[in-house]
Amino acid sequence: MVVILKPNADRQRIDALLKAVEALGLKTNYSQGQETTVVGLVGDTSRVDIDALKANEIVEDVKRISEPYKKANRRFHPADTLVQVENVTIGEGFFHVIAGPCSIESEEQLCSIAQDVKKSGATLLRGGAFKPRTSPYSFQGLETSGLKLLLEAKKLTGLPIVTEIMGQDQIEDFADVDIIQVGARNMQNFRLLKALGQLRKPILLKRGLANTIEEFLMSAEYIMAGGNENVILCERGIRTFETMVRNTLDISAVPLLKQQSHLPVIIDPSHAAGIAWMVTPLAKAAVAAGADGLMIEVHNDPKNALCDGAQSLTPQQFDQLMQDVKRRAAFEGKQMCK
Ligand code: PEP
Ligand code: MN
Repeated sequence: MVVILKPNADRQRIDALLKAVEALGLKTNYSQGQETTVVGLVGDTSRVDIDALKANEIVEDVKRISEPYKKANRRFHPADTLVQVENVTIGEGFFHVIAGPCSIESEEQLCSIAQDVKKSGATLLRGGAFKPRTSPYSFQGLETSGLKLLLEAKKLTGLPIVTEIMGQDQIEDFADVDIIQVGARNMQNFRLLKALGQLRKPILLKRGLANTIEEFLMSAEYIMAGGNENVILCERGIRTFETMVRNTLDISAVPLLKQQSHLPVIIDPSHAAGIAWMVTPLAKAAVAAGADGLMIEVHNDPKNALCDGAQSLTPQQFDQLMQDVKRRAAFEGKQMCK
């Protein structure tokens, strides 16, 4: 980090600033030029409050030259992180597909979809029990009874389960959930992230609708800072000016995240597209871009789905997607996990 001082900064104030920074355990590198004076801060600058530094009356500007995320950063952890859940390993070299309905609607619905997606090659089952709906009048999910149905579907199929948490008060109820999903709308719910950092259970963190890659990685950092390093990143489309898709899939997020971080990266093309026919081409693009997996919404009766029917594939369409994705993976020299 570099602190640029104002011209003619008072020497006493400079000394006070250097002392304050050194008290944080950092080394300072003072360099007085003809026009500008800069102070280089060397060491772990993650605890430096940039806004407070900028507010100092002798400071002209502060520039970060290294990333603010440390635990999520590949620079400090070059090896790929592999997240283990039951007999499933997720990460570089292990391509998995998570599939299931947007929301759990009934035992028959969930169990039949679970069996179908398993047959087609999905290795994890998704299903929302608590739904973060834009309208308070929309279906909010079966809540606790939905969680019970997920466990039944797991017993039936053996597929580990992924479901979304809405707040830290629910952590106890999620004890038997294999992967806890943090939805896009909660990506910056820092209290929730901190609480999940105390667990050792895998967390599937979705990128917020309007968040930068750096903000996304800082949210992962919140979980990891608590000691929970089992984080899977999920790009699910971001808001842009385009109106013909629900969101715009940021495919560049895949190589960027994989370059910046050692965490597994998966793509959710369903919420990105918002339209069923577009899910397969985006899924293939995700494989080509280097993603470690996919999350796909599947419904046995999309027209009558209580949530996200328009973007849901039928089990038959999902089966076709899996065949297309397998072919694409083989072309990329990757193997799909069974
Ligand atoms: C979901 O996965 O059903 C969901 C609500 O996703 P997102 O948080 O990405 O909108
Ligand atoms: Mn959904």
